[in-house]
Amino acid sequence: MRYAALAALLCCALAPAQTRDPYAAPRRALIAELQAEARGDAGSLTRIDSDVLVVMGRVPRHLYVPKDELAHAYENRPLAIGHGQTISQPYIVALMTTLVQPRAGQRILEIGTGSGYQAAVLAESGASVHSIEIIEPLAAQAAQRLRGYRNVVTRTGDGYYGWKDAAPFDSIIVTAAASSIPPPLLAQLKPGGRLVIPVGSSFFTQTLLLVQKDAQGRVRTRQILPVRFVPLTGGH
Ligand code: SAH
Repeated sequence: MRYAALAALLCCALAPAQTRDPYAAPRRALIAELQAEARGDAGSLTRIDSDVLVVMGRVPRHLYVPKDELAHAYENRPLAIGHGQTISQPYIVALMTTLVQPRAGQRILEIGTGSGYQAAVLAESGASVHSIEIIEPLAAQAAQRLRGYRNVVTRTGDGYYGWKDAAPFDSIIVTAAASSIPPPLLAQLKPGGRLVIPVGSSFFTQTLLLVQKDAQGRVRTRQILPVRFVPLTGGH
C-alpha cells in the first residue's frame, strides 16, 4: 500500500501537464487505494484486473456526480445521485467490470444507467455498450454525459426485459438488485457470455452473482460477495 501511495506521489510530481485538472490527484489516489485492495491471489473471484484500474483512471468520476457531492467524487463509496438512486462505490465498479471482462468490439448490456459512470468505464474499455435506465430524468442526464462516446447507446425503459433488438450480448451487467435472475436477460446472453447481477432481498444485503453461459447454453452461477444495491424496480 505504501508503494502504491509512493507511486501515486511520484506520478503527481512528474506530470505537471495534468495539474490543470484539479481532480487528477484525488483520482490517482483513489486508483492507488483500489490497487491496494485489489491484490487477491490470481484465481480469486474478488480480484480486480489492473487493466480495469487503468481505464478507471481515465474516467472523470466527478463529471458523473451531482454538484453537492463534488468534494466526495473520488472517495471509495457510493454517492446519492437524486431520485433515491446512487452511483456505485468505485471498488464495486472495478470488481463488476473485472467480472464482465469488457473487450474491444464486444457487445455489453447494462441495466441501470444511473449516473452513466459504469457505462463510461465499459465504453473506455472499447466495448459497445447498450444501457437502459427506468427513471426518465436520470436517463436523460446520463445520455447527455455520455454523448461523447460513440460506442454507447442509452434508452429509457424497464431493463428487466433486456434490449431484444440489440441482443445477443457478450456480457450483461445489472447495477440494481433483483429478487431473482430475470429470464429475458439470460435469454439475451450469448453462449460463452457472462452476466453479473446482485440478487437478493431489496431490504437487506444481496449476493453479487457471476452467471456464465457455456457454449452448449448450460448456466453456471457463482457467488462473489455480499453487496448492497438499490432495488430493480418496474412492473415485472
Ligand atoms: N450503474 C449506475 C448505478 C446506478 S444505481 C452508475 O454507474 O451510476 C441503479 C440504477 O438502476 C438506478 O438509476 C435505478 O433507477 C435503475 N433501475 C432500477 N430498476 C431498473 C429497471 N427495471 N430498469 C432499468 N433501470 C433500473
